[in-house]
Amino acid sequence: MSHELRTPLNAIGGYAELLEMEIRGPVNHDQREYLRRIQQSQRHLLGLVNEVLNYARIETGTVHYDMADVPVVEALHAAAGMVAPLARAGGLRFHVQACDADLQVRADAEKLRQILVNLLSNAVKFTGPGGRVSLRCEARDGSAWFHVRDTGMGIPADKLESIFEPFVQVRSDLTREHEGTGLGLAISRSIAQAMDGSLAVESRKGRGSTFTLRIPLAPAP
Ligand code: ADP
Repeated sequence: MSHELRTPLNAIGGYAELLEMEIRGPVNHDQREYLRRIQQSQRHLLGLVNEVLNYARIETGTVHYDMADVPVVEALHAAAGMVAPLARAGGLRFHVQACDADLQVRADAEKLRQILVNLLSNAVKFTGPGGRVSLRCEARDGSAWFHVRDTGMGIPADKLESIFEPFVQVRSDLTREHEGTGLGLAISRSIAQAMDGSLAVESRKGRGSTFTLRIPLAPAP
């Protein structure tokens, strides 16, 4: 399926790029604008296809988990480093409160970072300029708990569980503006559960949200 979907999409992008490079003759201003839109839509669709395929692979259990003892500080900094520029561009204050430097979780490092980046970029997406986003962690009951908190638009009480289902988005100006796929949280929860963890949310509409990811601590040596 992956090949069948990606190959024609790559061809669309590739031919549009060749035309833009004027390989087959000059391109006028309006044509250039149309080519730009073709490429933009192509990238969007390719992103969507990749995410759907990714989700399908996770759900069918064909994804490999490279489990190791992962220092929590490393996971925090890797994810925060990727999201900090987004937060700055969005006019938000972004704060990371590191926990115990020796703390380690049992996880696939890449997938743990993927969940944290998804939660943090959602927090940035759904919080307007002047708002705050923070990432905090604590160790309790044999697990590390990562709290991603924002002061953004919040989530209505009746949508708190359904946002973890695939393709569910809460209608708002911000979701329209950002063109997400509605798969990020479904993927994040599935990955967290596959690593014996969990993902939950608390939120108040108009006040902000806190997503809490739990990942088991690495067994003591
Ligand atoms: P996407 O971000 O691609 O829309 P997600 O699965 O990551 O998909 O999120 C699903 C929906 O949950 C979002 O469209 C949004 O309505 C809501 N949501 C997620 N994170 C937040 C947040 N931090 N604040 C408010 N709403 C959120």
